[in-house]
Amino acid sequence: MLEPITKKYTDESSMKQFKFTFYCDCCGKAVPTQAYAYRNGFQKKTFLSNDEKEARSIIYASEHGKAYERANNEVRLNLNRCELCTDMVCEDCSVYAEELGGGVCCKKCAEKLQQERKES
Ligand SMILES: [Zn+2]
Ligand SMILES: [Zn+2]
Repeated sequence: MLEPITKKYTDESSMKQFKFTFYCDCCGKAVPTQAYAYRNGFQKKTFLSNDEKEARSIIYASEHGKAYERANNEVRLNLNRCELCTDMVCEDCSVYAEELGGGVCCKKCAEKLQQERKES
């Protein structure tokens, strides 16, 4: 599986749907993504052979992986990458810094930049 876009994320997927929540690297605010229904088309059975169970779990894992990738791409649009420390941060934590020529950095890096400016 690819690296999650934020340092912390939770997987709330069930057998019915895939759902992931990501968290701003700076303030920890939850950034939910769209839930995707898991439509497997499997017949409801009371008894499954081991082969059937295995086939179902392989299909589930593959669909789960695809949903995870989609969720990462989706959340990317709602977050900004800090150009200094590469954290993924929410709009509230994004600072458009003059030092970066209109680039984006996180609040923490913005504070550091300000500190450096004062010291120099
Ligand atoms: Zn934030
Ligand atoms: Zn930063």
